[in-house]
Amino acid sequence: MSSTTSPTSMRTHHCGELRTEHIGQTVSLCGWVGRRREHGAALAFVDVRDHTGITQCVVDNNVDVRSEYVVRITGVVRARPEGTVNANIPTGEIEVGECVVEVLRTAEPPPFPIDARADDVDENTRLQYRYLDLRRERMQRNIRTRAAINSAIRRSMEGQGFVEVETPMLVPSTPEGAREFLVPSRKDPGSFYALPQSPQLFKQLLMVGGIDRYYQIARCLRDEDLRADRQYEFMQLDAEMSFVTQDDVLEAISEAVMAAAEAITGERPPAIERITWREAMERFGVDKPDLRFGMELVELTDAFGSTEFKAFAGAASIKGICASGRAEEFGRNKLDQLTDRAKQIGAKGLVWMRVSTDGALESPVTKFLTEGEQAAVLLRLGAQPGDLILIVADEWETTCDVLGTLRNDLGRPPVFEGPYRYVWVTEFPLFVGVDKETGRPKPGHHPFCRPHPDDVDKFESDPLSVRALAYDLVLNGWELGSGSIRIHEPELQRKVFSVLGISPEEADRKFGFFLRPFEYGAPPHGGFAFGIDRLVAILAGEENIREVIAFPKTQSGSDLMTGAPTPPDPRQLADLGIRTLPPKS
Ligand code: ASP
Repeated sequence: MSSTTSPTSMRTHHCGELRTEHIGQTVSLCGWVGRRREHGAALAFVDVRDHTGITQCVVDNNVDVRSEYVVRITGVVRARPEGTVNANIPTGEIEVGECVVEVLRTAEPPPFPIDARADDVDENTRLQYRYLDLRRERMQRNIRTRAAINSAIRRSMEGQGFVEVETPMLVPSTPEGAREFLVPSRKDPGSFYALPQSPQLFKQLLMVGGIDRYYQIARCLRDEDLRADRQYEFMQLDAEMSFVTQDDVLEAISEAVMAAAEAITGERPPAIERITWREAMERFGVDKPDLRFGMELVELTDAFGSTEFKAFAGAASIKGICASGRAEEFGRNKLDQLTDRAKQIGAKGLVWMRVSTDGALESPVTKFLTEGEQAAVLLRLGAQPGDLILIVADEWETTCDVLGTLRNDLGRPPVFEGPYRYVWVTEFPLFVGVDKETGRPKPGHHPFCRPHPDDVDKFESDPLSVRALAYDLVLNGWELGSGSIRIHEPELQRKVFSVLGISPEEADRKFGFFLRPFEYGAPPHGGFAFGIDRLVAILAGEENIREVIAFPKTQSGSDLMTGAPTPPDPRQLADLGIRTLPPKS
């Protein structure tokens, strides 16, 4: 905290600012009362606290100040007597004496201590009293880290010629994949706005509008189940650029992310590496690979090409992972748990093998494997005595999915633990799987992603093999965000809609407002958006994005401080022409 912000009409310094160089000065500090300790019969030590730290003040014992009272203390800075210096705090060499205390406001005793001890308090209590929780050092640090990241991103984007444009919050429903929040229209009863899942359509229209480079730190809303890295409302750095290829977009966004990281860690991350989606799946089994640890998936399909072992024979894909030195840790119970986990994810089974001290494989299945097959397993996985090997034989997607999950379960450090490993994952599939209801392919991301030019001829014959010019940015196994080069030709857009089973009439009805403008000369364009909450959480050393959001919702979507959501006033509903059903019992 720079001292230029300290003086106001009420104070001369912040509470974390005084050092020995201030000895002899008369100062005024404002803040909250922290700890109070008796100091003989006549005096008391009172810690006064603001967001910069605490200062010990020696006050008359008759002064009635208690925890969290808001005070202004004026006194003289002096050295602490020998032997009482506190090396743990930056103001530990001084104290303020001869104090005059003004109580600006009394306070009720807080429901939890306003210091690190509150980390052990039930999170619901912290959220209920978030305004008190926010007074704590950890939360102050997180909120300020967030502000520093936003500021670095803005500087970087503006330095790169991006123009900040705000887009509306009341929008039509759009097909971005998540469930939307709806807002009833009073003027047009029975009609609803949606809250934006992202500014996607508007930012593309800004490109039609000649804005060239748009950005916004945008609020996005998605009605999805909440978890550690997901809230109903979240903030994205949202960007779109005209006349660009994928490389231009990746470079611009990398620049903003690196500037943000540098602002917090003091170090500029190395150039962000890139891998294709296919490679990410083959090597890590997931599309958001955590590159901080090895244990990569190893190809074994051909090693079992003529195997007699039933579980492997004829399997489309056989892969294994080797958990180094973990054999002993996994007794029967834990192996059964791993097998159950594999089955939950969709595997038919899980083969495990331990490497014994003499380098041989120990497993209930070794008797079905030839010596050559066993040797291939050991060699390809580079297995050493004491290692645990896990093998899955299944469809390619299932094999990757199961081993990718087990790899993360077994090896993944907490998300915030360094080193920070950023990676661009490119060439995502344009479509993923088939919708059970419509029998049509489902869009891999949103339906505005551009098909890879090399795959356009497979569009109708083999849509599931078509790659998109779509990419994700991943940090330590968390997806930070996604983007793509877009379709700027209405004919191609209609073709994608038709593969998705959206008829031209439906497309015009639902997205006419988006498709028609493209008839007026849309430039080639592409963009990206990444979740600021996630980036901040990782750089702030937090595992849950709630810790870096001033007023988050709980896992079940409620705001414990305000009580939202609440039943509306019947009059409001009447105005909107809405009648609600009784809650489901
Ligand atoms: N709108 C997309 C999202 O929120 C990002 C993009 O394609 O630019 O995931």
